[in-house]
Amino acid sequence: MINIIKTAVITGGTKGIGLGITDCFLNSGMNVVAVDIDSEAGNECEAAYSSSGRFMFVQADVSDEEAVKGCVQNVATKFGGIDFLINNAGIANPVRKPLAELSLDEWNKVISVNLTGVFLMSKYCAPYIEESRGAIINIASTRALQSEENTEPYSASKGGILSLTHSLAISFSGRIRVNCISPGWIEVCEWQKKKDRVKPFHSRMDDEQHPAGRVGVPDDVASLAAFLISDSAGFITGQNFVVDGGMTKKMIYV
Ligand code: NAD
Repeated sequence: MINIIKTAVITGGTKGIGLGITDCFLNSGMNVVAVDIDSEAGNECEAAYSSSGRFMFVQADVSDEEAVKGCVQNVATKFGGIDFLINNAGIANPVRKPLAELSLDEWNKVISVNLTGVFLMSKYCAPYIEESRGAIINIASTRALQSEENTEPYSASKGGILSLTHSLAISFSGRIRVNCISPGWIEVCEWQKKKDRVKPFHSRMDDEQHPAGRVGVPDDVASLAAFLISDSAGFITGQNFVVDGGMTKKMIYV
């Protein structure tokens, strides 16, 4: 029997925005593989989703080449291929230090997870995605476009993802569409492991400063990712889509 269920690999898919994408893609009928370094969160996802028969958790560090290679082989064997890769794993709140105090190790850590992880996962998944004429989505950030102070490693890692996106899109022309989503403030505190889950609190100003009138939620990103991997987005590749409730379009002069 030919397997027509599509398979998506989502890095960092057990918490936060990644978990929102996992949930959205499972609800649309896909096989979903959440690749995450956090086994506790992965086990909670297994408990929640394994009855679907379409969910798999693989513990791996996306910045570790051997781990990535093993994980991708494992997934391709289990599901007979890979259609979509969502490069979402990231160190979302890395240490913020003035440049003079930032160590090379701290810099390298953020770059290796946030940027090298995208390179490694794309490299090893690409042969399978090419075969299925699928798509890759990279999750960057509006911090690739603008900054607060002392965020150099994070901003640089996300800027690198923007460039890697168009570079991959050109290299895989006609075979894999590659796009990027740059979220603004997405509230993820309810999309964590049970023990870390808390109710979000947003002040009126938090919401009202957004032209859209509210802070974002994981589904704001997941629904765009679902569109971008679909055939309806077949003419879109190499692009960056900002999902930030309009924040980066505000002109602010003091
Ligand atoms: P999160 O911390 O809730 O989720 C990140 C996930 O990545 C976690 O499950 C974590 O375990 C996993 N992860 C971290 N390091 C890993 C590694 N080395 N290997 C495998 N998995 C790893 O964060 P989030 O807010 O959901 O962020 C998801 C992505 O969205 C990140 O790339 C982040 O930079 C980006 N982003 C988030 C926001 C936001 O406001 N939440 C805004 C812009 C961009």
